[in-house]
Amino acid sequence: PDLFQPERVNSKGFDLTDQPTLATIKVARARFRNATWTAGPLLAGTTAPEAPIAVTNPFLPTDSPGTVTHASAADVETALSSATPWAAAPAERCEILNKAADLYEANFGELFALLAREAGKTPNDAVAELREAVDFLRYYGANAPQTPPAGLFTCISPWNFPLAIFTGQISAALAAGNAVLAKPADQTPLIAFRAVQLLHEAGVPASALQLLPGSGALVGAALTSDARVNGVAFTGSTATAQRIRKTMADNLTPGAPFIAETGGLNAMIVDSTALPEQAVTAIVESAFQSAGQRCSALRCLYVQEDIADNLLDMLKGAMKELTLGDPWSLSTDSGPVIDVAAQTTIADHIAVAQSEERVLYQMPTPQTGTFIAPTLIKVNGIADLEREIFGPVLHVATFKASELDAVIDAINATGYGLTFGLQTRIDDRVQHVSDRIAAGNIYINRNQIGAIVGSQPFGGEGLSGTGPKAGGPHYLPRFAKVTPQLGGT
Ligand code: GLU
Repeated sequence: PDLFQPERVNSKGFDLTDQPTLATIKVARARFRNATWTAGPLLAGTTAPEAPIAVTNPFLPTDSPGTVTHASAADVETALSSATPWAAAPAERCEILNKAADLYEANFGELFALLAREAGKTPNDAVAELREAVDFLRYYGANAPQTPPAGLFTCISPWNFPLAIFTGQISAALAAGNAVLAKPADQTPLIAFRAVQLLHEAGVPASALQLLPGSGALVGAALTSDARVNGVAFTGSTATAQRIRKTMADNLTPGAPFIAETGGLNAMIVDSTALPEQAVTAIVESAFQSAGQRCSALRCLYVQEDIADNLLDMLKGAMKELTLGDPWSLSTDSGPVIDVAAQTTIADHIAVAQSEERVLYQMPTPQTGTFIAPTLIKVNGIADLEREIFGPVLHVATFKASELDAVIDAINATGYGLTFGLQTRIDDRVQHVSDRIAAGNIYINRNQIGAIVGSQPFGGEGLSGTGPKAGGPHYLPRFAKVTPQLGGT
């Protein structure tokens, strides 16, 4: 397939600096401010779900955007036995996925409302998320392959991109002609439910796309251990990916594809020749946008010693300008983290740093919502980060000019390899560093988040994922039929 797809254009999204556009968004969202949604399994047979559970707004504990009923063990069996690969020709699959993209765009007011109230997504995040979801639908649709599908694909998606990654996995599996069983993240079933409804409305048959909200322990485990499943696409933690791989190896046909996109310990190196304003903007976006809840987010910043004091002062200044608050508000830059459990884990990490007097700066914390205020923590190097802290916490280390290669080695030694950023004005250094860094996505003199479907395929190396990269030309072939062979990959 042609990577740059001359006949397909990415979604334009919404320009949040344009006043009429902001007014349009306000009007389109308004009637969903107090709306409630009722989500549950969407099956090709009769469903007998569990009792309803309230879904919570991470900003406002008093606001519940709706309820979800989880799939029961009987529902899982119904889904497995009624799943049927999508028989439509590639051109028809493309047409229907494009129609779904149009429906997503037409329903932007409702989707933005859900993204804010269920996932704590700021307007900026919601716009990016809808754009990416729509781009996935059109990109995979345009590349729908002629090859036979794997058969039945399980798609397990995370809460941090409840629309974009959810849609990306599903649309790839569907474009390739598979039947899909989708398990959305526990925290974000309502968005997933609406997305599947829109896909059905566009013409995806109920037997080709079924939704099973529920826990990883019941639904996730069942959908990755049943021999009728032919492949799994997963985005989430490295530990869960490793468990799924073992389960699949024990239960599925040898060679069943497993596509995992997992965590990262992403670094950025800023040398003394970097443009300070550009570096600070890139750091703030990479570390704190989406409240740091992106697997691509910057976790460890290396600043060359000579400029460190100045750059960190500027960074603190830029952090003070951020507006934390209600994700619904059009002026909010950064929202809450997803839930109390996440807040507690991140707060514990910061408390340890505090007790060791390593907190360089923390913004004031809003009173309402599961907030973690953006925080800078001093470290000696990336080796001090024992695990990925999935929130707005940036670790900062300094290095001397002579230590550049040692810094690269330390970054590579984490075993992760998702994103990496470099700020420098030395051309040879760009080459030197990018040749040595083991990371899926390397960004030079810009932020290191927000990969664009079709032109910046996204995915990592090592502990960060199996590949192939999402939104790139090698992704769809992994959803095709494989010939079973023992010891195959
Ligand atoms: N694709 C997103 C980005 O480039 C990150 C996806 C994730 O967090 O899983 O920022």
